[in-house]
Amino acid sequence: MKIICIGRNYREHAKELNNPVPEKPVFFMKPDTALLQKNNPFFYPDFSKDVQYETEIVLKINRNGKHIEEKFAHKYFDEIGIGIDFTARDLQAEQKKRGLPWEIAKAFDGAAPVGKFVSKNQFSDINNLRFSLKINGELRQEGNTHDMMFSFDRIIAYVSQFISLKPGDLIFTGTPSGVGPTKINDHFEVFIESEMLLEFNVK
Ligand code: MG
Repeated sequence: MKIICIGRNYREHAKELNNPVPEKPVFFMKPDTALLQKNNPFFYPDFSKDVQYETEIVLKINRNGKHIEEKFAHKYFDEIGIGIDFTARDLQAEQKKRGLPWEIAKAFDGAAPVGKFVSKNQFSDINNLRFSLKINGELRQEGNTHDMMFSFDRIIAYVSQFISLKPGDLIFTGTPSGVGPTKINDHFEVFIESEMLLEFNVK
């Protein structure tokens, strides 16, 4: 399986990192070795001093597809979940400055914690979904999918022009504003609406 991540999909987040607001979706990838499941702990890597959380809705692809039309894209996922796109912001800043790829900052082991997936049909409107992150019991980040610049369907249509999608592939759909640092001993609890779907410790 592969993990595809959308960047700069929430205008306020693009602004907080001084990035231009994109005209087309921006995406990058993480390998399957980045996946962290079953609420296993995240081990803070020793190559970074500024690992930051980005809370994101994650789509789970359910069938093979390429060149998917936007109007059919909803058929390619039944389940959604929540994940953290961990980013070594210090390494990313260095890469961005030099115009180099982001993998060392985004694709490292454990950089993609993902929680339990639930049927998208349990929500009345997935384009108006609140999601949030608490660290040590304190609200740190929240967003709503109605603030996305590119909808889930648009993302699937766009990405599948370049890369075939397969069952089990995951798409991280971008983070709202409010990203921030984490540290050893933090306890993460991540929610869609009021349901906690992901929980883990930083070690
Ligand atoms: Mg992200």
